Amino acid sequence: MEAVLTIENLQVEFETFGGSVQAVRGASFQLFKGETLAIVGESGCGKSVTSNAIMGLIPNPPGTVKAEKIMFKDKDLSTFTKKQFREIQGKDISMIFQDPMTALNPTLTIGEQLTEGLKTHKKISSADVKKKAIEMLNLVGLSNPEDRLKQYPHQFSGGMRQRIVIAIALICEPELLIADEPTTALDVTIQAQILELFAEIQQRTGVSIILITHDLGVVAKIADRIAVMYAGQVIEIGTKRDIFYNPQHPYTQGLLNSVPRLDLMEEELKPIDGTPPDLFAPPPGCAFAARCPKAMIVCNKVEPDTTAINEFHQVSCWLQDPRVKQ
Ligand code: SF4
Ligand code: MG
Repeated sequence: MEAVLTIENLQVEFETFGGSVQAVRGASFQLFKGETLAIVGESGCGKSVTSNAIMGLIPNPPGTVKAEKIMFKDKDLSTFTKKQFREIQGKDISMIFQDPMTALNPTLTIGEQLTEGLKTHKKISSADVKKKAIEMLNLVGLSNPEDRLKQYPHQFSGGMRQRIVIAIALICEPELLIADEPTTALDVTIQAQILELFAEIQQRTGVSIILITHDLGVVAKIADRIAVMYAGQVIEIGTKRDIFYNPQHPYTQGLLNSVPRLDLMEEELKPIDGTPPDLFAPPPGCAFAARCPKAMIVCNKVEPDTTAINEFHQVSCWLQDPRVKQ
């Protein structure tokens, strides 16, 4: 499988008045061409910081990004300057931010906002710009696109605005789309329509998607693979089937137990006891040890290595380490 993105040992640190916070602590993963990888975890686990680091959006200061590499195709983004990032942002890599409702400028028409990226990144005639804008509004399912181009954001419903935001993100035909909680602000019906739209667009354009979410229902609908983050690390990664039906990390197991299952409606939610560790001073061993029902002595002392369960499924937990496991 061809990798669009390969991240090795990503570390993101923020200097604050209280000391330095290690928001991402050695995250590694790959994104394959045409797939949707969901990054899941509780708030503060580093999932948004990871996506912002890929996009070159971590302000320095107070942030510092380090990585062995962040390969986007043949380019190593870990060596990129601000100027180099500006050249690929919105063109090769696009991002849909957490709050789609405020992502549009109320004073500009949809047409102006939709075509801004095209005009910046591509040398094409104004007739072609308009043609492309209409094509994009059609792609995201807005009727009468020609009239829509002249309208302002307030003339659209929340769901339609989210479709427009997606059209803006995709108009330059990026190879990578990062969507950070793209449906959190929408009601359930609209949410389902937007998720369907993502799947449809991916089929038609072949775009690779990183979907950041805390909602396992969303993940179940559209992810191919899932990376579970905890305390700034990817603690388990695998196909949707691996993670949902054969979770190996006690945190992943806890996350899955904490959501109501559609087939077991009456089952009670089981929140995971405790809180994530302080990232000002992460513990020396496994970051989940204080909350883990299966913690052993070694867990508090030494960080677990990553163990491969199968070709796609990896976990960082002492329980799966061949040196502990008999
Ligand atoms: Fe629990 Fe130990 Fe595995 Fe951490 S390494 S999740 S503490 S069993
Ligand atoms: Mg976030």
